[in-house]
Amino acid sequence: METVLEIHLPNLLDNFQAIKSKISPQTKVLAVVKAVAYGSSVPAITKCLELAGVDYFAVAYVSEGVALRKAGIKTPILVLHPQIGNLEKAIQYDLEPSLYSFRILTAFSNIVQQNSIGKYPVHLKFNTGLNRLGFSEKELEKLKKSFYQKDLKLVSIFSHLAATEDPKEKEFTKKQLEIFARISSHFDATPIRHVLNTSGILNYPEAQFDMVRTGIGLYGFGNDLKFDKELKPVVSLKTVISQIHTLNKGESLGYNRAFVADKKTKIGTLPIGHADGIGRQYGNGNGSVYIQSKPAKIIGNVCMDMIMVDITAIDCEEGDEVLIFAEDVQTADSFAKQANTISYEILTALSERIKRKLIVKP
Ligand SMILES: *Cc1c(COP(=O)(O)O)cnc(C)c1O
Repeated sequence: METVLEIHLPNLLDNFQAIKSKISPQTKVLAVVKAVAYGSSVPAITKCLELAGVDYFAVAYVSEGVALRKAGIKTPILVLHPQIGNLEKAIQYDLEPSLYSFRILTAFSNIVQQNSIGKYPVHLKFNTGLNRLGFSEKELEKLKKSFYQKDLKLVSIFSHLAATEDPKEKEFTKKQLEIFARISSHFDATPIRHVLNTSGILNYPEAQFDMVRTGIGLYGFGNDLKFDKELKPVVSLKTVISQIHTLNKGESLGYNRAFVADKKTKIGTLPIGHADGIGRQYGNGNGSVYIQSKPAKIIGNVCMDMIMVDITAIDCEEGDEVLIFAEDVQTADSFAKQANTISYEILTALSERIKRKLIVKP
């Protein structure tokens, strides 16, 4: 046994259907697979979703889109945050850029013209209040002028919402949706309009427009316990007890002697550390793992390749299985909460060196 990340493809397909059931059958679904499909596996997740009939994929960067093409993906791919130096590569791999500023619009138009490609599919990103990327409503007139002179085919217009999971920000979200609807009204019916992320789909289905973008929902989380129940975590992180030590009162554990036993304490050493994505915040009693269905606290400092857990109260042996998160114990989201973070962060932090194991049967 070793540290493995199990990827349950049947759960992914169930989540895809669960999300589709929240929207009208005509609405297209874009699957967000940036950051190695939220830390899981690009080929496994994208091939499975392509077969299931997803309409679009999105990644953050051009290099991520290239990885999808190299995995044999034929579905259109939107690159959310391309950089000017990578635009030729995007064209070479048939990736569709999000154009979010005049700087990148001009750079991309020039490349398309110089290479006489003509009518290259692109997407326009609008800023409606997240204030991260995108053209503003004020820039609309200038944008329409400079855009239509160029050799680009406008496939979609979109925006991103800041707080779809937060009921206290309903007013703000409604305002963002209003701005987006107003921007949309300046375009003819051709471009696909999309604004909702997972929590948007769950909380504002009336704003689904022509397409929705789901990331975390596909991987099993709805940012709300009510919705988490309808979804199934796709990945489980498992490891093993490498060695057991017994500390006497006064003996210390690990770097900087961060833990000192106040009584006889049994310790299990596990082959996973901060280089694998278990950040130092999980150490010193904050995070727990599960052994023989019982919680074991992570004690002392998290090391690069190891963590140590308190197994004093657990009847276990070297070689026993350890669950860090799994569907039937604690989820990635509840594990993340122990370190004051969110499912997105723990999932995408899981390093390449953790072996991925595909589970294909329910
Ligand atoms: C990451 C991202 C998403 C996916 O958000 P989830 O909350 O994971 O569904 C959607 N749209 C944009 C622009 C993103 O950057």
